Parts: sequence; structure tokens; C-alpha cells
Amino acid sequence: MDSTISVSKGCFVFKKPNKEKNKRKSKSKKQLTTNQPEAELWHTTYIDIWNDVKSKIDDLTGSIYSKFISETVDFLTMSNITTNQYIPTACLLTGVNLPDHESLFELLATNLEKSQPPVIVATLFSEHFSSVKNAVISMVSQLLNPNDDDSDFDEEMDESLNSVVKRSECTISTLIEWYSHQPIGTRVAILVKDYEMCQQTVLQNFILLLSCYIKEIPIVLAIGIATSISNLHNSLPHHVVTKLKVKMFVSEASVVFLNNIMDQVFLKPDCSFYLGGRILEYVTEVFLYYNFSIKQFIESLKFCLMEHFYLKPLNCICVAHESAQGALFDSLDKKTLEEITKLRSTNYKYKIDNNFKETFLQLIGELKACIDDFHIGLRVLHILVVDLPHSPLGTQLREMYSTAMKKHIIDNTSFKTCLQLLKFLSKDDLLAKFDKIIQVFKNIKNNKRAKTAMKLVESYVKRLEESHLNNLVIVEDKPQEKPKDNLQAISRSQFKRKLIDNVKLEDTRPMTEFEKARSETLDHLTEVILRQFLVPPTTMPLNELLIFDDLPSIRRKIVGEDRAAQYTAFVNPQHYLDCDCCELEFTEQIFKTMPDISIVYKLHLESRFDQINIYDWLQKFISIVGPDQNDDDNDDDIDPVLQSRFVRAVNELQHLGYIRPSKYKADHVQRLTCGSC
Ligand SMILES: [Zn+2]
Repeated sequence: MDSTISVSKGCFVFKKPNKEKNKRKSKSKKQLTTNQPEAELWHTTYIDIWNDVKSKIDDLTGSIYSKFISETVDFLTMSNITTNQYIPTACLLTGVNLPDHESLFELLATNLEKSQPPVIVATLFSEHFSSVKNAVISMVSQLLNPNDDDSDFDEEMDESLNSVVKRSECTISTLIEWYSHQPIGTRVAILVKDYEMCQQTVLQNFILLLSCYIKEIPIVLAIGIATSISNLHNSLPHHVVTKLKVKMFVSEASVVFLNNIMDQVFLKPDCSFYLGGRILEYVTEVFLYYNFSIKQFIESLKFCLMEHFYLKPLNCICVAHESAQGALFDSLDKKTLEEITKLRSTNYKYKIDNNFKETFLQLIGELKACIDDFHIGLRVLHILVVDLPHSPLGTQLREMYSTAMKKHIIDNTSFKTCLQLLKFLSKDDLLAKFDKIIQVFKNIKNNKRAKTAMKLVESYVKRLEESHLNNLVIVEDKPQEKPKDNLQAISRSQFKRKLIDNVKLEDTRPMTEFEKARSETLDHLTEVILRQFLVPPTTMPLNELLIFDDLPSIRRKIVGEDRAAQYTAFVNPQHYLDCDCCELEFTEQIFKTMPDISIVYKLHLESRFDQINIYDWLQKFISIVGPDQNDDDNDDDIDPVLQSRFVRAVNELQHLGYIRPSKYKADHVQRLTCGSC
């Protein structure tokens, strides 16, 4: 059922894929593709990298949710059931990130199934709570047919596919009968995924029903709540709440997850897929301001990955192992080779000559080294600036990555602010930071520059340790001005200027030995280490082949501009239909041949007020689509076919959110959009 999440889900039967048929298909596909090894290079590369990324993400998911899941599982399996009539209920506060709930509940279900005493799980979604009967049927059918993971309750489907238990037999008494054959101590866990979306009365009755059978079957509940626990207490009446023994579990916020994925999977040099700053900024923006969904975030990165490699053999060669690069390069055709010379990052100076291959491989090697260094530099930078007041460069590695990818971060004004703030750090704080930086360099293997940098930082540490906090350093030949203490300036700008002057004066004041060492080591670190390590890879030749930063190509595909698409479809259906009959000369034109919804939409744009009289609307509609009528015709004789077409189109508009029934007049609807948007 995952193949679609559109409204059409309700209209079409989704047949289970015929396994035998599929097998045959994949076989024939394989035969086809083995004949064209080149065509598959991008695909194997993509699959390899994606599998690697996916397994890392899965490990991360496990570790982030492990506490949450294990506590929930412990509660559901350990809590006492037999002595009272309460249903142990775990309330899972999962935050508003609906698409992720599914994977979280899947994880919970698999963990429950593995636990001791044995637990058998049924997961119910809001759509199962259309009636108590439906909920019971889906629960029982899932429990009795554990291998049939499709929880769909479509009647026809279940009848034909559920070979074990028929839908009509899915009752509580069947369940009790089934339970008597289960190993002793087996528990039944019912997971309710989206509490807020369920029909409350149905859910209440369902809970009451379960509580009646708690003596026969040890049932435990887990309810996913997106908002807050008070929601549960407010919406469930007292006599229902008393049947539950509620314990709350709060899952990690999805932002934490996002940051972890970025830091530990994508922003590491060992990840072969490098994101550009703009892309990364865009996908995190979509996440933070649009849907808060980790699942969709990962999907969009997967899409970027696919887009980066799809039919681009050059990109694949770049990530291939060094030993294989040469042979792969030789297999390229002339056209692909010419593409290299057209890359913007080479300034179009790179020509095909005798050393073409060597230069290419060398440039790629340099680019990779630059990326490796960049990642080291980024971690060093992160250590330096992460806890500065007001965090001028952000607190997350991904934020610094996006900034540093675009332009050399040392030249960024925010970095200069950071440097000023760093020069106020205490000796202990600064030494602690340098210590961490040394650790970063220590963990890097086979990198000469990192080794030299580490020695430099060690020398900083030595110098700082030796410097005295109180010994003044005598500054020669610098006349001491008296600081102006009078700050009672008239205007704000003057005040600011005076403050700046005072700061400058402070600079010329004699420094202590430590202050001097602090300032000089930080400047040296910036100019020598950070400047060298944080060269943006996007400024290197051939970077397009390794770093994916093609924002325009994915923007539209990741977040569909559906309103715009709808508007075009309504106003100019010919744009999509490609028919000859609806070609517009000007946008307001309406043709009889247009789809009904398009005509209705255009007519509704004509109304000057937000309240639209349905009858007038219908008349206009009929005047366009109906047969040519004489004016003497009786108005009351409305063709029922035309009327139903009109009603259907209006309903569709309402479904799409353009209109709603008016609160004031029964025969009016209210327009919900203004202008032509
Ligand atoms: Zn047409």
C-alpha cells in the first residue's frame, strides 16, 4: 500500500503483487541489463552508496530510539495484568512528524515480537476506527495471521487473500479461542498509531470492549500521541481513562535525529556522496519549516543521490576506487569526455590532449584530498565556535558546512565575530578546546597536513600553558591615550562609535602574557590551519562531478508546487491535455470542451465577492456547457446530467480547498482563495 498516498487510495483496488509474475519479470530484466554493462554503472554505484548510507542510518535509528523503545517494551511486557482490570497503556509522545511514526511503530512492533514473554502485535491506524467492528476485525485478523503484514481491511481483498481466517470470523470469541492455543504468558499488544486522528467515540468503545476481556487475554496498549499527554486526558471520559494504566514515554525530537544523521552519516569524509551547501540548506529548511519528517528528509537525500548519478558515468568514476578509475575512464566515449571540458569549474580551460586522462585523475585526487581536509577543518571549526555566545556560525555542523561550502568561511563576517569572542576565552576553556582539536587530528590517518597541524596545535598548547596570567607584556613605542570614559553621547550612532573607539583603546593597552599568547595562537590557527583546511571544495576544478549542488533541478521535485500546477491545470487545461480544442487566446477564455472543474473554477474567479450563489453559478455553467437554449426556455428545467456534472465539479473544488459552504447563506459557498492564486 506504500505505493501511493494520494486521495485516489480510496478509489482503487491495490492488488498484491503477484510474486511469481514478479520473479519472471526481474529475471528478464536482468538478462536485458547484463548485455549493457555501461548503462548499469550509474545504477550499481548508486545502489552501493545508498546501501551504505542506509545501513548507517538504520544503525543510528536503532541507537537513538533504543532507550525509548526498550523502555516501552519493558513496560508493555513487565507490567502486571492479571491482578486488576487495567490495560497497561504506553503513551508514546512522538511529536508532530507523522510520516515518521510509521517507522517508529514498525521498530516497536519488531522489538515487541522479539521480546520474552512472547508478544503478538497488531498495529491499528486511524482509518481502522471507522467503527468498533472494523477495529476488532483488523485487530483480530492481524493477530491471527501474523505473516500477512498487509493490514488493509478492504473486504474483497481480505476475503480472497486471507487464507487462514475469514473476515467474517474475526471476532473477539475467535480471538479468545485462538489465545487458548498460544504459549502460556503470551501477551497481545495493540498499537494505535495516530491517536489524534482516530474517531474518539469508536476508540473509547474499543478500549471499553478490550477491558472486558483483559482477564481472558492479557492485552497491552501503546498509543501514539503527536501533541501532548493532556490531549488524552481531555478527550477520553473518566470511565474510559480509569480502565487504563497510563505511562508516558517521550521520544527524542526529530531535530536531534536530523543533526545526528548529518553529523554521523552525510558530513563525514567516508560518505561517498557529497552535498553542496545550497542543497543541504534547502533540504533542512524543508524539514524544519515544512514537515518535520525524517523519513521524507532521507527520501529527498536519496533523490539527490539518484539525480547525481543517474546516467552520469563521470560522477560514478569519481567515487570509484582509485584502482578502478583508470579502466573506467578508458571505457568512456568521446561525447562524455567532451563533457569534462565544458564544466564551469575548470574555467573551460581544460582541453583534451595527451595527458587528458592523467590530468583528470590527478584533479579528482586533489579534489578528494581537499574534501577530506575540508571535513577535518570543519570539525576543528565546530569545536572552536560551537559554544560561543549567540553562536554566530550556528551550533550545528550542518550549518557550518553549508556556510563553508559556499565561500571560504574565514572571510565570513560571522567568523570574525567568532574570532573576537574566542579571544575572550579563559585559559582553561581555550586549552580544553585545543585538546579536543588535537584529538581530531590524532584520529586522522595517512594525512601529512593533519600531522603538521597537530604539531602546531601542540605548540600552541605549550605556549599557552607556559604563559603567565598576570605578567604584563611591555608594548614598545605605543603612546598610551587616555580612555574616554564619558559615554553620555547624544545619538545612538555616536555612542556606538565611541564604544568602538574604546575597544580599540583597549587593544593598545598592555596585554598580559596569556592574552598575547591567546590572541597570537588563535590568529595563527586561523591563518595557517583553518585557511588551509577549509578551502571550499566547490572552488576546486571538477567539483561538479563529486559534489551535488544542483538546487534548481531538485527544488521542484522535492517540494511540489501543487497550487501552481493546479492553477495552470484549471486556467489552461490544454497545457496538460495537449488537445486542439482548448487553445487559449487569453486566459479568461472558457470553452465548452474544457473539463468541468476547469470551467467551474474559471467561473468562480469571475465572482467579485467571496460569497458565491450556487444557483447563479450553475446557470452560468449550463450556459456554457449546455445545448444552445432559447431564452424563452423554462429556467426550472435543469438537465439533471448537467446539474450532477456541476455538483461534482464544485465538490472537487471544495475537496481541493478552494471553496467551503457559507456560514451565512445556505445557497452560497465561500471562496477561500483571493485573486487568481
Ligand atoms: Zn480541449
